[in-house]
Amino acid sequence: MRELVDLAIERLREDFPSKSKSWIRRALVRFMKGTVREINENVWVVRGLPELGDKYPTYVVRFKENKYQCSCFESNWGLRRRSEICTHIAAVILYRNYKRLDSDVYASVVNIECTDYWLEIPSELRGKVRVVKSVRVIDSTDRLNPRHRVTYVIYASEPMEVRARLTCDGDVRELSLRLARTRRYIVELLVR
Ligand SMILES: [Zn+2]
Repeated sequence: MRELVDLAIERLREDFPSKSKSWIRRALVRFMKGTVREINENVWVVRGLPELGDKYPTYVVRFKENKYQCSCFESNWGLRRRSEICTHIAAVILYRNYKRLDSDVYASVVNIECTDYWLEIPSELRGKVRVVKSVRVIDSTDRLNPRHRVTYVIYASEPMEVRARLTCDGDVRELSLRLARTRRYIVELLVR
């Protein structure tokens, strides 16, 4: 799915803002050709692509001590490459971003328009339930008190019913939100 791939690339760019377009493009080629295979949660095998200058049929990428390592570091170019993040690793990161965005979450959406707003979930749910929001100014006639359109997405890794307190310009409402199954990328699209 196109939108999912776009989001996965966007995350990669955010994580590596100094990387070139060609670095992103090579990672994307590797990913789109399905060269990444997960062995376990910290090891991946990436099939080599001669057209991208690979000398070996496969490369092994490991995530160890909070860092990625690639077997191409041990090749002739290892010394030069060690300080960089090769596109085998970038392809693995893209693969992981995609997989995460494609996974199921349980979510509910609340849309409001107000000047002052606040959404509170019970403290015992913190860590279990997450809240993200997108805010747009829709009326700034009163510069000090602009009016906003706010989209809250409340989500968790399992289905549940969440009680929340929504405050909008002094009006307080108790909400009962049923978190329904959706996919992670939908949540990200809603609060973009
Ligand atoms: Zn590599």
